[in-house]
Amino acid sequence: MKPQPIRGTRDIFGEDMRSFQHVVNTARSIGLRFGFEEIATPIIEFTQTFKRTLGDTSDIVSKEMYSFEDRGGEGITLRPEFTAGVARAFISGGMTQNLPCKLFSTGPLFRYERPQKGRYRQFHQVNFELMGPKEVEADIEVISLAAMLLDALGIASKTELELNSLGDDESRAAYRDALVAYLSKYKNDLSEDSKQRLERNPMRILDSKDETDKKITADAPTLDEYYNDTTKAFFADLQNGLTALGIRYRINPKLVRGLDYYCHTAFEFTTQDLGSQNAVLAGGRYDKLIGMMGGTETPAVGFGGGIERMALLLDTIPAAPRPIASVHIGEEAEREAQKLAYHLRSEGFTIDIAYNGNPGKRMKRANKINAIATLILGEDELKSGSVTVKQMDLGTEEKVATGTLLDWLGRV
Ligand code: ATP
Ligand code: MG
Repeated sequence: MKPQPIRGTRDIFGEDMRSFQHVVNTARSIGLRFGFEEIATPIIEFTQTFKRTLGDTSDIVSKEMYSFEDRGGEGITLRPEFTAGVARAFISGGMTQNLPCKLFSTGPLFRYERPQKGRYRQFHQVNFELMGPKEVEADIEVISLAAMLLDALGIASKTELELNSLGDDESRAAYRDALVAYLSKYKNDLSEDSKQRLERNPMRILDSKDETDKKITADAPTLDEYYNDTTKAFFADLQNGLTALGIRYRINPKLVRGLDYYCHTAFEFTTQDLGSQNAVLAGGRYDKLIGMMGGTETPAVGFGGGIERMALLLDTIPAAPRPIASVHIGEEAEREAQKLAYHLRSEGFTIDIAYNGNPGKRMKRANKINAIATLILGEDELKSGSVTVKQMDLGTEEKVATGTLLDWLGRV
């Protein structure tokens, strides 16, 4: 029996790794243009960090966390999302005095889910958090960053931006009462999870994937009927700002996001191209979170994007970089070829040396690895202090003096 990885985890290599890296590098570079600095928080945090912020009734906390007691008896959890840990770091690291604070993160997250295409137990996100501004400009900026990322990856046309406003505290409180009044009529028909949520977080029932719950919530009152003037103005400004940037969206009044800490803006870029998974990238505004965690209350907005899901949507797998192959003929040339490769590598070129096989086999390998050029070093070349350079796409060969090789290669 071959050893197997744990269910829901994958080894990422080859083409998958190239797609994966392409997503991460693109996100990081676009983040830089928006002024985001990278932060790496620990993969483990105190369980409380997630429990208190995500809420006991969230799917993540109630069903999906990898939690354990460490040898010292501390309750520890493998991070299931980035926001709580980044907010914790923002408070612990004393960043609250230096606003706005823009933080980019990437790395693995863990959720105990039913694995399928695009849904894993260890998955990865690129994550952006912008802390400080209460102004809607921040929401516009963060959503435009997400749109630019999808565009740069060439997958924007496969996604749709869904937008909602969860309103301010007053709007949400008014809505909550109306929603509870409506749902209470169907209390006995709700799923067990939703019965629990009815008391503690009724809005989350709108997020339920249970079929009966969905039927019941189809006719539930919607939040927009309870927006006050502040909420209306904020949401209108957001929409105008996005429109001015040419970013299209669809308002989805049912989009509530599964977590406790959101207010005002909630958004998701969704797709129809990933089978039963449709969320690609999701986020929103969370003005209360940092205060809830014991920091100075600081408004914030952010999002997380699933790297695997974005990678799956890519039309083409990014090509591997093309190396320069080195083929030597005869024992004497071997040492010379090593020296030359070392020199060229130190100058920044990627050199592939075939370790064994006759010259014909080595040339075959040069083709297989899609070399851009092959350096041929045999007796003749050794004698004349030169290298034969074959340009693989043109098929042309040329003898180049070793002293001018660097210059020559720079032009290939
Ligand atoms: P879903 O509804 O698909 O479970 P979610 O609402 O739980 O998604 P978020 O917590 O908002 O997801 O995470 C943001 C993004 O992370 C998602 O849009 C998705 O791209 C990705 N993601 C979430 N869970 C997984 C998973 N188990 N495997 C792969 N990617 C995931
Ligand atoms: Mg989920």
